[in-house]
Amino acid sequence: MAVRLRGVVLPEGEMREILVDAPGPEVVVAGGFILPGLVDAHCHIGIAPGGAPVTSLEQARELAIVDRDAGVLAIRDAGSPFPYPSLDDDPELPRLARAGRHVAPQRRYLPEIGQEVPPSEVAAEVTRQAKAGNGWVKLVGDWIDRDRGDLSPAWEDDILTAAVQAAHAAGVRMTAHCFEEHSIATLVRAGIDCVEHGTGLSLDVIDEMARRGTALVPTMINIETFGHIADRAEGKFPKYASHMRHLQAGFPAVVRAAYEAGVPIYAGSDAGGGIDHGLVAQEMLRLHAAGMSTMDVLRAGSWGAREWLGFPTGADFTVYDTDPRDDLRVLQSPSHIILRGRLLS
Ligand SMILES: [Zn+2]
Repeated sequence: MAVRLRGVVLPEGEMREILVDAPGPEVVVAGGFILPGLVDAHCHIGIAPGGAPVTSLEQARELAIVDRDAGVLAIRDAGSPFPYPSLDDDPELPRLARAGRHVAPQRRYLPEIGQEVPPSEVAAEVTRQAKAGNGWVKLVGDWIDRDRGDLSPAWEDDILTAAVQAAHAAGVRMTAHCFEEHSIATLVRAGIDCVEHGTGLSLDVIDEMARRGTALVPTMINIETFGHIADRAEGKFPKYASHMRHLQAGFPAVVRAAYEAGVPIYAGSDAGGGIDHGLVAQEMLRLHAAGMSTMDVLRAGSWGAREWLGFPTGADFTVYDTDPRDDLRVLQSPSHIILRGRLLS
């Protein structure tokens, strides 16, 4: 059926009518504030609660539906150990931008999640994973090195640089998991398209990102878990624990500095594994608390992210009873969801 929406349409902020055309009778949704849906720009529908890979398409679908019912109508999956290309056009699911499997260093990443490769295989694996995703490749830029007892880059600079080049040669965008300082600097200078987390960003590298237009998805919900990670690691890896605590303590200031420098920032919850799906509105509240204006937070978690990810416009909408520009908390409870032209609730 067709859906006629009447309300205040954001970002313009004008009262108008939108007709989402379809065969059949027309349903009218009147009143409220209309967004083109939320976007979770970093989550994992291929990682089950608890951290193991999902084992069926149905399980991945269920996780995506948790996001959808929270108003998330587009997702960027930042790495999946379970392939699910057949869900790209599933009419019930949010629109999907997907990386293939994380390209990870050997025995230095979450068990079973990444495609672990030696340095000599990184570029070739990036090329393979470019085909497995639908526009993105995800690299693990750094992780704990147990021999050193601290975070350290996954590979030498020349390997990280070659990985970015391989992604671009394959015609896809690359992003990387980066907690520590050196991997981010190297990858940004190599022309990576986006940085996930970004706790180790220096002001110099932030300026470089702003100059290049490199995006940042800070996943502030994830960074809040660093204290627990540090507590658990303290006995065996005190240097790592203290590094993690240091990165966490400085992080809201990093996000604020990136924002003030003009780095494009997008909202990502990092759901999958230890973080529940459906929390991107909470991530948006954290971006606001870090210093982003209400309109820029809305851009980061809605229309701006859709544009960045190349999703079409005109068939996806969320409606809210009160104005999210006055109070972003309303984003946690959409009153109506229209996905791919259909009124779902
Ligand atoms: Zn993630």
